[in-house]
Amino acid sequence: MEKNRRIGVVGSGTMGSGIAQVFAQTGYPVVLLDQHPEALDRAAATIEKSLGRLVKKGTLGQEQVPAILERITRTTKTETARECQLVVEAIFEDANAKREILTKLDEVTAPDAILATNTSSISITELASATHRPQKVIGMHFMNPVPMMKLVEIIRGLATSDETYAAVETLTRDLDKTPVEVQDYPGFISNRILMPMINEAFFTLMEGVASAEDIDTVMKLGMNHPMGPLTLADFIGLDVCLNIMEVLQNGLGDDKYRACPLLRKMVAAGHLGRKSGRGVFDYSA
Ligand code: NAD
Repeated sequence: MEKNRRIGVVGSGTMGSGIAQVFAQTGYPVVLLDQHPEALDRAAATIEKSLGRLVKKGTLGQEQVPAILERITRTTKTETARECQLVVEAIFEDANAKREILTKLDEVTAPDAILATNTSSISITELASATHRPQKVIGMHFMNPVPMMKLVEIIRGLATSDETYAAVETLTRDLDKTPVEVQDYPGFISNRILMPMINEAFFTLMEGVASAEDIDTVMKLGMNHPMGPLTLADFIGLDVCLNIMEVLQNGLGDDKYRACPLLRKMVAAGHLGRKSGRGVFDYSA
């Protein structure tokens, strides 16, 4: 990738703001796009706060901050992605909305531009078919919070070329992240393994094997997980967990991925985790 050519990030929410930050920190000029100007303002504030934390920790010099912030251009106009060498799509998890934005990006960007998607669960192959350049479409699955987490799953769609994969792998290392090559199957590696574990924790709770606190304690102290599966589910959002289980069950065609009825019931009740003030645990205080 060329250091002086722009990188686009579409969707300036939780993930998009973090992705824009790490590209800008690495020295790339970034175009950060969102359909809502308020989301762009929130992203700017989030990025400034995150950089401030890095300065406090001593991993970033205060004198570097203004240049990093200046590298990020915020806009609501998709056409601004025109000069980008790579665009990472990080809008919400909806296949139709993602296909629509990829079709638009395919129209506005140069033919050599790579289109990456940060989807957690949608098939890269399916998203690539919304463009005329499936060989240049790839999954770049960053982890939350992006500035802190080292892993990027790089997912090859059916048509992704070796050249596209190699460029994105090199870029990921340039961001000081660790790339892992993944073939396009439901849940990739991360959610294929994580979500059934979380789902099993719900079954364990539903069957009365143990209390929620004790289930989390066993996984923390017994398996050295930094956070118990039920606390983690509350962080991720129970609706997101349910959706990914459904993707695994439908995509792999195996009922071993069936979502736990208790998980379904809690989502139906609106107990979605931290974001709704209540999930497995209560956050109202
Ligand atoms: P989010 O809801 O925080 O942000 C999405 C942003 O996209 C919003 O600001 C919204 O205004 C914007 N947007 C929606 N449609 C748009 C469009 N057509 N054009 C421009 N902007 C648009 O979502 P998020 O949590 O950052 O997730 C983004 C993607 O990253 C999803 O695909 C999700 O599955 C994936 N992901 C999320 C996490 C996580 O922990 N949050 C982790 C890994 C991957």
